[in-house]
Amino acid sequence: MIKELSELGKILRNKNAEKEQVHNALKKEIVLFDLVIKEDGSFYKYVPIDKKSTVAEALTSKKGKARLLLDKAEEVLCYGGDKSKKKHQLFLEKLNQYRDIEDIKPVLAFYEQNKKNGVDKALDEFENAIPDEKNRKGNIAFRIINTDMRINEKQQVLDKIIEKYEVAKKNLLKKSQKLCSICGKSDYPVEDIPHGMIKKVPDGQRSGSALVSYNGTNNPFESYEMVGNENSMICTNCAKTYVEGLNWLLSNGNEITETDKKGKEKKRFKYTNRKNFGSDTAMIFWTRKNEKMPEIDLLEAPNPEEVGRLIESVASGSEKESKYLETEQFYSCTLSGAAARISVRDWLETSLAGFRKSISRWFQDIAIGAYNNDLKKIEIYYSRLYDLARSCQNPNENKDVSISRVAAYLWNGALKGTSPPLWILTKVLQRARLEEYGVTSERAALMKLILNRKNKGGGYMIKEGLDEGERPVAYVCGQIFAKLESIQYAALGDRNAGIRERYFTYAMTLPAAAFGRLFNLNSKHFTKLKNEKPGLAINLDRELQDLCKKENIDINKFPATFSLEEQGQFAIGYYQQKQEQFAGINKKENKEEESK
Ligand SMILES: [Zn+2]
Repeated sequence: MIKELSELGKILRNKNAEKEQVHNALKKEIVLFDLVIKEDGSFYKYVPIDKKSTVAEALTSKKGKARLLLDKAEEVLCYGGDKSKKKHQLFLEKLNQYRDIEDIKPVLAFYEQNKKNGVDKALDEFENAIPDEKNRKGNIAFRIINTDMRINEKQQVLDKIIEKYEVAKKNLLKKSQKLCSICGKSDYPVEDIPHGMIKKVPDGQRSGSALVSYNGTNNPFESYEMVGNENSMICTNCAKTYVEGLNWLLSNGNEITETDKKGKEKKRFKYTNRKNFGSDTAMIFWTRKNEKMPEIDLLEAPNPEEVGRLIESVASGSEKESKYLETEQFYSCTLSGAAARISVRDWLETSLAGFRKSISRWFQDIAIGAYNNDLKKIEIYYSRLYDLARSCQNPNENKDVSISRVAAYLWNGALKGTSPPLWILTKVLQRARLEEYGVTSERAALMKLILNRKNKGGGYMIKEGLDEGERPVAYVCGQIFAKLESIQYAALGDRNAGIRERYFTYAMTLPAAAFGRLFNLNSKHFTKLKNEKPGLAINLDRELQDLCKKENIDINKFPATFSLEEQGQFAIGYYQQKQEQFAGINKKENKEEESK
């Protein structure tokens, strides 16, 4: 993974190099204000700058280091008292290494000969000159009165930084001679230093987090340290490029304008290579040649027509660029942050063609018929990946963590074609039993996905719509339950709690006992209904009898229990029967309307 991130970083760097060449020893930094001094080193004034970029010495990590001529107030002025003494000392030591340079002489005078009118005065004036406390945390650069160029930008200074960098590199190379495990070369030294900070990690700290752990096995939520810098054998160049690659993936994007439900236009930043799941997890993805991947957006907002086109083009293998796609690689990893650490939960590498195949299969596996109340018919429904994850969310549980855990598994399922673990089925069944809306289209789709992937080697495959062929007893029991529910509704209306609230869990787990009670109850409802609406009563009862008879189900010999998988089949049988009933009731209503 680090190899691919490093490759990406190198590609990005080459692109930037065309615009502006920056040596490895140098880096663009932001400066918040200039400290203007006179030639004799005496302090003149502070000039606030609106976050301008300047070029300065590159530091892989700031810990225990100070940057030449450009740093924060603690380093430059010893601002903050005794706490800052060590940082200030580091800054002075660094400056001292460059004291031969003519351009730096006024700065040396500022700290040495002219200390009283120089640094002491600058420190006295600091809080007055920079009233906003937040701004005092920014970088300070030196500038001589009546000149434009900052001292850290002078060519002599930059040349010297590069020269020192090259010497240090050579010395290290002589010493180590180690081959880098990423690029396989010894052009750059393998050093025991931090690799640089990754910014914008979910739940990470503002200053950035370090990539410390890696785990590509099947237990994505236990991470252990593998990429410790000591034994990682990564050269300084690869370390730098992978950090740059990762930072780019986490932040690349642009502002888009969206229209919300009320017709209001809203601006939103849209990441191009990243999706956030919950507050602590993000998935990043890219291809080596930076291909566009509209399929990823489809996971977030499925459009049935586009999904259909994708499935068709993958199935027929008719993609024009299929040859080209074969060679293009797709990469994705799941990252979680926790303060200073960043964990890689999962890593995926596949061909772009393989990626498209997986997405196409994903949509086939989550496709489920749903009754559309506006169109008055059953339509194939593709759920958003995030909605599937949310459908097994207990609203009282610590919300985000659970959603991101499930979402991470589903993301893998979509991109790799893996089977989500069975504990997700347990969770979604629980929600279907306990919540007001019961078996929603999202829950049915998620159960179908889990069960069909589990059974793809053989076993019952759930279809998109109501199955009228050979099907498991549990599925038929779900259908019967839906029928009993509609008879009760016809007899009693909305009054009292429905049988779903009272008996759904019971019927799903202990069918023999539950259905005994349910059929008893039903005969009472039937008697009542027959007195009030005899036509409807007879119709509903006949449909119920048909269901039991046709499937050769003896209502006195229901199984004693249903396994977890059978409970899923029960819930889906129930769901699909209900959709069919919605559509059926409507057909009848329409006919009645027409005959009037
Ligand atoms: Zn390397």
